[in-house]
Amino acid sequence: MVGKRYFTAGILDVEKNTEELLGNGGCMGMGITMNAKVEDCIHHRRKNHRVVILNRIEVEIEKFKENRNVEEDDIYLWRSGNDKYRRKFLTTETWQVIRKKHQVYDWHKAIWFKNATPKYAFVTWVAMRDRLSTGSRMVQWNANVDASCILCQTPMETVGHLFFECPFSEQIWRNLARGVMRERYTSNWSEIVRVLMDEKQDKLQLFTIRYLFLSIFNSSEEEG
Ligand SMILES: [Zn+2]
Repeated sequence: MVGKRYFTAGILDVEKNTEELLGNGGCMGMGITMNAKVEDCIHHRRKNHRVVILNRIEVEIEKFKENRNVEEDDIYLWRSGNDKYRRKFLTTETWQVIRKKHQVYDWHKAIWFKNATPKYAFVTWVAMRDRLSTGSRMVQWNANVDASCILCQTPMETVGHLFFECPFSEQIWRNLARGVMRERYTSNWSEIVRVLMDEKQDKLQLFTIRYLFLSIFNSSEEEG
């Protein structure tokens, strides 16, 4: 749960919710429901537990009962990040808390850059994650599939081969990119990605190379 300040977070200074801290069994052991409010602890009767953390919570509840301010109402706090709670609701922070996080790839800047066309960037992202139905991917699903390149019959069709390294594709890439990349021109997949990530080069040049890279995947998609 994101929006509530649960009693463990309110009483202990651990700022984690009950479930994370104790699991489901903890709530049962304590006799306090998962979504109990801080206020509910006032009527809690102390027990002895085998689990150390539960005894610690009992101690904290006792301290809270002694020090509580009767006039103070419960408040709702929004979780922002792992160890922070705040009163203000911020969509971005809540989204970061509830979303499933995946690995960040260092090449993301080469694709999701300023003024990139989102549709182009999306198709390129799919290609970079190696999720296009190339021979090398299809053979993982079915070993009997013909994994060779449809253009030059090279035995293994990879993304890098199909769009850049294959002699037919290389002609297109060469015509588009050689003038911009000049002495750094390459049709080698990993070399191209390295050039795309090199932020030391001229900004306009970098933008043009990146945009050309995106357009390669998109033109193939439209042709079908
Ligand atoms: Zn080929």
